[in-house]
This record gives sequence, structure tokens and C-alpha cells, in this order.
Amino acid sequence: MGAYFSEIFSGLWSLFIGMSITFREFFSPTVTVQYPYETLTMTARYRGHIDLIVGEEGKTNCVVCGMCEKACPSDCISLAGEKPEGGKKKELTKYTLDFTKCSLCGSCVESCNFNAIDFSKEYNLASTRKEDFYFDLLQRLKDRNP
Ligand code: SF4
Ligand code: SF4
Repeated sequence: MGAYFSEIFSGLWSLFIGMSITFREFFSPTVTVQYPYETLTMTARYRGHIDLIVGEEGKTNCVVCGMCEKACPSDCISLAGEKPEGGKKKELTKYTLDFTKCSLCGSCVESCNFNAIDFSKEYNLASTRKEDFYFDLLQRLKDRNP
């Protein structure tokens, strides 16, 4: 008989403990978001794939020096530029990133003395196709500043 009441008491006690945790969490601040309907703002130090920084007049600050391309240990970056007719400086005509090989090491960003590239805050990348991770960063820049 004692064991019978002891089991009932133990069951009620565990129910009480469980419900108290449930109520406490119910009224505590929410720390999750309803992804994908809500998204988080990434921290300043978050590293997404690299992106060209938008400079003056929506153009890139890149001077086509090639330092980032050389600094990349994984051969992810491919860029090209040409001097426009009558122009003095080269202009960027191609900047592609093979993100499948990128280790987010940051060598490219560190090697750029012209504040032309930085890590993006992109964290929504998902695909089963490798090709979806080959980025045309110049086109992305144009899309952001039509
Ligand atoms: S290091 Fe900077 S300025 Fe030089 S090519 Fe790379 S992005 Fe352009
Ligand atoms: S972060 Fe590192 S691996 Fe990725 S593109 Fe830059 S240099 Fe290459």
C-alpha cells in the first residue's frame, strides 16, 4: 500500500517539476526565430563568403591589383580588368569566387589595401548543385546597386 502511494506521489512530483519548467520557459524571453519567416542579423565578426564592397557612386573600390587572387591559398578567386578608352586606371571587368573551395581564411580580405572586399553576412546558402556556389561578385555588386 505504501509503495502504491509513493508511486502516485513520485508521478505527481515529476509532473509538477516538468510543468514548472514549461511555465518558466513560456514566460522567459524568446531566443529562437521562426526561420525562414524571420531571420537573424549576423554579428559584425560573422564570415560569409566574400563580397565586393560598394564604394562611391555604387562602384567597386577595386583597382585590379590582383593581391587577393595571389593571397588565396585555395585558388578561389579569379579576376580581370581593363583600362577604358581614355582612362588612366584599370576597371574591374570580372571577379568570380569559387566558394566550394573557400575556407573563409580571410587572406584575401587582409591582403586588400583598397577596402574593396569584405565578408558578406550571407548565411542562407543551401543547394545540392555545386554550380550554385560559383559566384560572380561583380554581377552581385551590380544587382545590389542597379
Ligand atoms: S586586393 Fe583589393 S583592390 Fe586588389 S584586386 Fe583584390 S579586391 Fe581588388
Ligand atoms: S577567404 Fe581565404 S580561401 Fe576564401 S577566397 Fe579568401 S583567401 Fe581564398
